[in-house]
Amino acid sequence: MDYGPAPESQKEAQAWLDGHQRKFGLFIDNAWSEPAELFASTNPADGTQLAELTQATDADVERAVEAARRTLPVWQGMGGHGRAKVMYALARLLQKHSRLFAVLETLDNGKTIRETRDIDLPLAARHFYHHAGWAQLQSEEFADYRAVGVVGQIVPWNFPLLMLSWKIAPALAAGNTVVFKPAEFTSLTAMLFAELCVQAGVPAGVVNIVTGDGRVGSAIVNHPGVDKIAFTGSTEVGRLIREATAGSGKKLSLELGGKSPFIVFEDADLDGAVEGLVDSIWFNQGQVCCAGSRLLVQESVQERFLNKVRARMENLRLGSPLDKSMDVGALVDPVQRQRIAALVDSARAEGCDVWQPACELPADGSWFPPTLITGASTSAAVAQAEIFGPVLVAMSFRTPPEAVQLANNTVYGLAASVWTESISLALDIAPAIKAGVVWINSANQFDAACGFGGYRESGFGREGGREGMLEYMTALAEDARPALPVVEAKAKANVKPAAADPFAIDRTAKMYIGGKQARPDSAYSAPVFGANGALLAEVGVGSRKDIRNAVEAAHKASGWTSATAHNRAQVLYYIAENLAARADEFAARIAAMTGSKNPEKEVQASIERLFYYAAWADKYDGLAHQPPTKGITVALNEAVGVIGIVCPNEAPLLGFISLVAPAIALGNRVVVVPSEAHPLSALDLYQVFDTSDLPGGVVNIISGNADELARTLATHADIDAVWRHDGSADGCAEVERLSAGTLKRTWVGGAKGRDWYSAAQSGGRAVLAHASQVKNVWIPYGV
Ligand code: NDP
Repeated sequence: MDYGPAPESQKEAQAWLDGHQRKFGLFIDNAWSEPAELFASTNPADGTQLAELTQATDADVERAVEAARRTLPVWQGMGGHGRAKVMYALARLLQKHSRLFAVLETLDNGKTIRETRDIDLPLAARHFYHHAGWAQLQSEEFADYRAVGVVGQIVPWNFPLLMLSWKIAPALAAGNTVVFKPAEFTSLTAMLFAELCVQAGVPAGVVNIVTGDGRVGSAIVNHPGVDKIAFTGSTEVGRLIREATAGSGKKLSLELGGKSPFIVFEDADLDGAVEGLVDSIWFNQGQVCCAGSRLLVQESVQERFLNKVRARMENLRLGSPLDKSMDVGALVDPVQRQRIAALVDSARAEGCDVWQPACELPADGSWFPPTLITGASTSAAVAQAEIFGPVLVAMSFRTPPEAVQLANNTVYGLAASVWTESISLALDIAPAIKAGVVWINSANQFDAACGFGGYRESGFGREGGREGMLEYMTALAEDARPALPVVEAKAKANVKPAAADPFAIDRTAKMYIGGKQARPDSAYSAPVFGANGALLAEVGVGSRKDIRNAVEAAHKASGWTSATAHNRAQVLYYIAENLAARADEFAARIAAMTGSKNPEKEVQASIERLFYYAAWADKYDGLAHQPPTKGITVALNEAVGVIGIVCPNEAPLLGFISLVAPAIALGNRVVVVPSEAHPLSALDLYQVFDTSDLPGGVVNIISGNADELARTLATHADIDAVWRHDGSADGCAEVERLSAGTLKRTWVGGAKGRDWYSAAQSGGRAVLAHASQVKNVWIPYGV
């Protein structure tokens, strides 16, 4: 029996395009500009031109940002309920026009109508409903936050309307206004959405849509009037954006590429896993950032499973995306086809086995057959690069630890799919995989309530859920920060430096690496003078090599991350207790270094801060979401990994503790550069750590030049995040720029100060969020 054709009508979509004379201007301030310099949008399934769109200029972006800025008070003045009503109207209108949107998306993108109709549109509407709810609850649930301001948003072509929804819905809910750029290949549904904005009563200037190529994206990114950039796209462009925004103070979230593993254990329901694989790598022709593009299958079932996969591939139907019974549609553009073909050719050249089912490709348009590659080495281009096409690379493993090792053998960390009938095995594997999303016995599940986003070079920030809302808000405590670092009044005026002390050499404070005192590799030391100008001691001048040793020690201390939160809390309490026992000694040291009039206050605040984060260690729990699909999604706050920290000069003990304690409370290991001016009380802490059961390597302290050491931290490939809070604007900008290499998370203070005594500015969930990353584990439940 064969399938008959089941075409979806494109009449309404074509009529809508005709209604616009197939030419679109830009949507700014709820008005359409005259179509200007045009570029074509084509149907990738047959190469026909659908419409022409306007290439926005820098002046257009300027106008859009200006409109967005002007209307901010209007939008925020409507209050949460006012915004919720408008967003609810948008959700309803999306549902009402869902078929038109679905057909238009299919025409523009080449993806099948089955997917646009059943996945993209329902998820887009759900996003607006869910976020209408956040707008309504904002004043209650996010009372300590405000909207960021004007948000620039740039999306790719693979899920044009869905990515628009993921970006615009949370931004609007939080009270921001947006300048949005769709991808050049696929801007049409954004044009239709603009019309809905007017119908839904979105005030002029709240949503502005500018079309065009990467230059438009770049103009948005570099515009000084934009307060936040939210980007989804390639890791290469993500890096450029990280560099371009460094030092600008713009908030940034990046949702980038992936090379996600699809892991099949021998006890899995193999037929179920095959269907999951179809949804994982052939969904949207594999043009999905979280596509399960690396199949890892246990050796004992490899042959059986691959035979099933090939049999299923033979049955995949490829053809007109508007035919309701097609599984595989067209690729977005011939450029993508060539890119995919080149990568597959590279696999052939490397001797891999490339298998494709007998499959007739339509004569016109942009197509690529479902492809299975076996025999690739783990370092092959096809095993490492994001192919972004319907190409699966299969490998085998023998044991669960080997599966984890292979799964993590990538620079990315977006998603993973784990298939086994053993719940204990699945729940052993999920935390070991470095990825922002793990689907157990499922794949490519999304929901507005569940955060989505990556680890490592898959970017940072989350879309969806509470954590996604936070990406569009700023803590009020940040606004309360002093304009400059506050230096406490000194007890005594500076006096002339004392004459060189012949015994000073004996007072060189050591650095602390792997739980041991360490001399600097450079063998150099630098003097530390007290508030009265006297030489207090010498400290080692740390170098690249010392940082390397410290990072190595931090990695070896991975047991700290897997230790229980209860255990970590106890160690933090113990550190506090031992610090209290030496309070006088530390107060004297602070007084000698800084001339502080009230050093006891800083020691007491440090002890309290240790208690504070010990308290949080076992309370910063995740959430259990109940998305509309049958199951639970557990959002876990995991440690980021190894964090490099550059401490402030003011409050040298409290500043150190306020940064190190939250990091280690949540299971991170740290390499810390203490205050360059007043390093001694931090270096004295090793005596406290050594008596407090803190495992060696959890906290490593390297003294020296803050700029130089920060540079090394930001470029080190095995450091996951860098925090810099010493008031150096240039230094913070440099950390952000250099972090682009491996897309580290950064938390920098810029030139502003911070009241280290303030619980709001130096504590709270906002700080804990920097010390953690959310992993969403999807678990079928009650099915
Ligand atoms: P890009 O990252 O180039 O494009 C994403 C968005 O950024 C588009 O709107 C694009 O505009 C815009 N853009 C391009 N250059 C800049 C810039 N310098 N500054 C600001 N914005 C910019 O992805 P591509 O579309 O070129 O796809 C290339 C490859 O990237 C794919 O083959 C795939 O491997 C990967 N990719 C990954 C995605 C993911 O979700 N992980 C999504 C899309 C692509 P325009 O469309 O006009 O070029």
